[in-house]
Amino acid sequence: MVSKSYIYAFEEGDGKNKMLLGGKGANLCEMTQIGLNVPPGFTITTEACLAYLAKGDSPPGLWDQVTTHIKALEKKTGKGFGSAKNPLLVSVRSGSAMSMPGMMDTILNLGLNQTSLKGLIAQTGNARFAWDAYRRFIQLFGKVALGVDDEHFDKRMVEIKNKTGASQDVDLTAKALEQLSKDYLEIVKEHTGEEFPQEPMEQLKFAVEAVFRSWNGKRAVDYRKQFRITKDMANGTAVNVCTMVFGNMGNDSATGVGFTRNPGTGEDAIYGEYLVNAQGEDVVAGIRTPVPIANMAKEIPVMYKELVALRDKLESHYKEVQDFEFTIEKGRLYCLQTRNGKMNALAMVRTSVEMVKDEIISKKQAVKRIDPSMLEQLLVPQLAPNFNGASLAQGLPASPGAASGHIVFDADTAEARGRAGEKIILVREETKPDDIHGFFQAQGILTSRGGKTSHAAVVARGMGKPCVSGCEAIVIDDQGKKASVGGSTLHEGDVITIDGGSGKVYSGEAPTVEPEFSKDLATLLSWADTFARMEVRANADTPSDAARAREFGARGIGLCRTERMFNSTDRLPIVQEMILAKNIEERQAALDRLLPIQRSDFKGIFKAMKGLPVTVRLLDPPMHEFLPSAGQLELEISHLRHLRETIGALEELPETLKLLNPALHRKYADGLTSLTRALDMFKENHLEEDAIHKKQETLRKVRQLAEINPMLGHRGVRLGITFPEIYSMQIQAVLEAAALCAQEGLEVLPEIMVPQVATVEELKRIHATARRIHKLVKLKHGIDVGFKFGSMLEVVRACMRAGRMAETAEFFSFGTNDLTQATFSFSREDAENKFLPDYNETGILQDNPFEVLDETGVGDVMKIAVERGRATNKELKIGICGEHGGHPSSIAYCHRLGLTYVSCSGPRVPIARLAAAQAQLQEEK
Ligand code: PEP
Ligand code: MG
Repeated sequence: MVSKSYIYAFEEGDGKNKMLLGGKGANLCEMTQIGLNVPPGFTITTEACLAYLAKGDSPPGLWDQVTTHIKALEKKTGKGFGSAKNPLLVSVRSGSAMSMPGMMDTILNLGLNQTSLKGLIAQTGNARFAWDAYRRFIQLFGKVALGVDDEHFDKRMVEIKNKTGASQDVDLTAKALEQLSKDYLEIVKEHTGEEFPQEPMEQLKFAVEAVFRSWNGKRAVDYRKQFRITKDMANGTAVNVCTMVFGNMGNDSATGVGFTRNPGTGEDAIYGEYLVNAQGEDVVAGIRTPVPIANMAKEIPVMYKELVALRDKLESHYKEVQDFEFTIEKGRLYCLQTRNGKMNALAMVRTSVEMVKDEIISKKQAVKRIDPSMLEQLLVPQLAPNFNGASLAQGLPASPGAASGHIVFDADTAEARGRAGEKIILVREETKPDDIHGFFQAQGILTSRGGKTSHAAVVARGMGKPCVSGCEAIVIDDQGKKASVGGSTLHEGDVITIDGGSGKVYSGEAPTVEPEFSKDLATLLSWADTFARMEVRANADTPSDAARAREFGARGIGLCRTERMFNSTDRLPIVQEMILAKNIEERQAALDRLLPIQRSDFKGIFKAMKGLPVTVRLLDPPMHEFLPSAGQLELEISHLRHLRETIGALEELPETLKLLNPALHRKYADGLTSLTRALDMFKENHLEEDAIHKKQETLRKVRQLAEINPMLGHRGVRLGITFPEIYSMQIQAVLEAAALCAQEGLEVLPEIMVPQVATVEELKRIHATARRIHKLVKLKHGIDVGFKFGSMLEVVRACMRAGRMAETAEFFSFGTNDLTQATFSFSREDAENKFLPDYNETGILQDNPFEVLDETGVGDVMKIAVERGRATNKELKIGICGEHGGHPSSIAYCHRLGLTYVSCSGPRVPIARLAAAQAQLQEEK
């Protein structure tokens, strides 16, 4: 009977069968078979390992097969196992189907003994190297195969260093290393009771079985548990026995590592380092500094040519940039290892485009090979890669990019100082819409409260500005204009740096690198667009955001949050008048002033997006968000009262002074008279009283509008129903702006979207208003600009009733920020810095559902809505405009759901374009 084959020479093994040969073994076989010069060797299969582990002994026939393969190896290399002249030395390495770096054992230079050592000295002409290799082998073998603790060897090493006055290992002479090797052999004998095995085949048996056992070693078992490596992913380890080659056999030998292209820039040139007449350990030990591979063209041109040929073969076979290791032994180039090279975003993009031009990969492969989220590096400023300063505090990474600036604790100061040309970081407990003018002037935003869908986070992302939110370690005292973190205090004007990609906050100015939307990226994304089925739109609220989003490739606006337009300093007072209005007439008067402002904003946006759809969402947030907080008003009123008391005291001053010090009174008589006159005037005009009165009025209204749970309160369409004049004004502004643009010959595609809808009755009423206003606008402007009418789906009930909703709505857009909040009953403002980190750490939830769409819960609610909506109207356009619309795996889910488009903040548009294309290509697979 022919016994089972447990071993494959590198020429025979199936390079695709990683389960049987392990990743490393399969790779060595594949490299050998495509004609790369790999040192000869063979792989013992994972089946042999499993058989050994099951019985505690090698399966029958295994050692006969090993002997046969060693003989073949001797023949191939012309070397002899244990030879005194030309010894064959091998490495014995583990390697399972999944990479588990450093978790299992490796032994180098196996085959060394008293005889072959002489051969190695003769071969290399370097006694020091040979003895060093020997003492390393004894220790490694002693530890791995024979179980002798490292500490015994280490102790002896220290003793010998002390004795010879060597401060480092590399200072030890050949003689000292010879002595050390002999001592190490003694140590092994002492601890195992046996002589160190001299016979190479015996060494090999010990080593292979030790590697088998290391599969069940604690390190490896823990690693598999941690990274959830199951039996169907990797079962047992293979063992690779590979001929050792040496780069230190003279000036025609060398060792090095290389990338087939530059991993930092993507440049099409071999990148890496090498050393002539050296071994890898020389580099690790810092004995010699390797030189750039480019030098090789001059130093050893023949070898360089071979290296270029190797590089071409690697790339044309693997169709990916490779990170490889090589050794040149006596003028022969060996490739020891290769794997896909890790690169930064710049290099990934450039190599994608250039490898298509070089016909190495197709456009589809180019689009598929880049992780979309990597593109973020190219779209916002980043901390310099070599920066490694200690952070002050850690918050949530809410909007990517790094920024430095002077701390400012309120939006007005941020606006003033920013306008004066200073770099500003706006630091707030949390932000509100009336802080928006501060955002415009700030380089970045830092908040101590709120999550990744908080106001600060969403607005900053829309503007492409860095934001760290929910940084609870920072305690802010905005009245005192200071903040404390740990033991230190930050004052207004102090410089800090925030990194919105990691959530870290640093003291002082950290170096940053600027983003670059390169030609290569534009090319790559244009290919992506040809593959994607879903369109990508942007969430943009201003003409300039819209213009930028278009530059990033947005195919329209999926969400224009109109309330953002109310927040600049000249508009907020009018909005406040509207809110504080005592009756409908007063409110209408304020709305009449807002109408032309909104109309002109919409015109700007329509112009920036000409020819593309623009979805305008009617007012959404609760009214009180536009007013100052009750606390702030109370403080201001109390300041004004103090002012009144101070004025009273000042009135008494002339008389008091006259009594106490007539001479002084005479001296300042003129000044005192003008002071009294000024105070009289102040009083007559009731300035402070008026101010107090006004603020008290506002306070009353603020208290009246206050809600226990404003996110579930009087907001969205509920406002539009109770104050119809607000939505009427907004709809009029949209449709008039569209009419005016159309009159100028621009193609405009307005879409009016209603937020927070729960029942179709709400939608119907707003729809009736929209149709009525549309008629009026048509009459007034003499032009009929059509519009689409749709609903946000962000309330669970609306999703359940999507069939009915689709009778009125021409499109849906999932507001997954609110829908996630509603489905989980997790507050989007608080969850992320209260309990969610714990939930993620303990595995209750895998991801943050406000960042990564929860496919099984929220996603299922969406699925029901899509099915029911399309059952009513199979052409129904459905998009998503929550933050998930810019997240790659969530985009893939939206693709699978059959959505028409995703909409995300402008700077994320390129990421979404790539992710949308990948989702389609994934489906084709
Ligand atoms: C949403 O809820 O997903 C949404 C886009 O609206 P907002 O974030 O403005 O509530
Ligand atoms: Mg919402």
